Amino acid sequence: MTFRTRFAPSPTGPLHLGHAYSALLAHDMARAAGGDFLLRLEDIDQSRARPEWEDLIFEDLSWLGVSWDGPVLRQSERLDLYTDALTRLWNKGLLFACTCNRRDIQEASAAPQEGVPTHGPDGLIYPGTCRDLPRTENTSLLPETAALRLNMARALEESGLLKTATNAADPYVFAMFEETGQGPNDETRLIHTSETHLVTGIGDVVLGRRDMGTSYHLSVVIDDADQGITHVVRGQDLFEATNIHALLQRLLGLPTPIYHHHKLIRDDTGKRLAKRDDARAIKTYRDAGHTPEDVRKMVGL
Ligand code: GLU
Ligand code: ZN
Repeated sequence: MTFRTRFAPSPTGPLHLGHAYSALLAHDMARAAGGDFLLRLEDIDQSRARPEWEDLIFEDLSWLGVSWDGPVLRQSERLDLYTDALTRLWNKGLLFACTCNRRDIQEASAAPQEGVPTHGPDGLIYPGTCRDLPRTENTSLLPETAALRLNMARALEESGLLKTATNAADPYVFAMFEETGQGPNDETRLIHTSETHLVTGIGDVVLGRRDMGTSYHLSVVIDDADQGITHVVRGQDLFEATNIHALLQRLLGLPTPIYHHHKLIRDDTGKRLAKRDDARAIKTYRDAGHTPEDVRKMVGL
């Protein structure tokens, strides 16, 4: 299998040291394997994506010595494909329309049960308010005025994963994806998860956002498949979300790539770098006269 990976930034701010590490690592791994390194712009959030940030991504990567193969893929040009996938999931009865706002979700989650997690990879775990409401509109049409959430319990049933559980008793535990890097708690190799974890620790995540018609989770799995990605190299902050991605791949009949999650680059106080952290923007280092070699050293490459 040829090695094919990608770097998938959102053009919503300057690239910082954390992005540089991710891009350089993925690029180096691809070149070492004689494989491909692709570039994708995750620009579905058109309220935040800007052409000037795109230009800066190209400039920063070129300066770092990161060259990419083939054309740049832009998610904003692929919205129809995401809608098609949502329609398929909707027609299988795996999605439900949700009209809750953030406040509704907070209020419905106000009295959490002891021992039950309150936050998952997308923040507050959805309390299920709209899950079992009857579909009112023409049931084959996607609602356009609501968010679309995945019915996690039903999706898991449909995926066939429960049948692969090593112990068919409760809790169902099954293999989800292969990891060649490490999760935040040093998880590696074959990553297992459980029904309990998916249903109560992740829950009914949003796959179709009202404002953009899709979501990160849905578009990333479709694009990784369409770009023929064999290895996803990205930060550990996305390790947990990979459970969602591997589930969606099964539901949509897409292959599951091998995942390689890497350490996060932190600032001097140990905090993760954020997009707003301009002090660590690549551009700042460039302008201050640092070299790409300096940046490699700073991130430990
Ligand atoms: N667009 C995501 C980000 O900027 C990366 C997604 C991924 O690598 O799967 O963090
Ligand atoms: Zn709702």
